[in-house]
Amino acid sequence: MKTMTCHDLGGPCDLALVGATADDVIKAQDRHLKDAVAAGDAVHVPAREEMKGRWKHPKRSMDWYRGVKERFAALPEG
Ligand SMILES: [Zn+2]
Repeated sequence: MKTMTCHDLGGPCDLALVGATADDVIKAQDRHLKDAVAAGDAVHVPAREEMKGRWKHPKRSMDWYRGVKERFAALPEG
């Protein structure tokens, strides 16, 4: 398992997201953003909107996605 933070994925806080793959971590971030916004956290709204936009425009988001995957791959296993 590897750890990235909300901040690593374009979010505003340092919550640790743990996953076996970059996709797991991205899904965990998506869930975290949804939960934060649902709980009334305005600070996470822009990141949530960006994430929603990524699902809508996957091609335009390839650079972001590839960047996350590369950074995930470069992390030490822990
Ligand atoms: Zn966060």
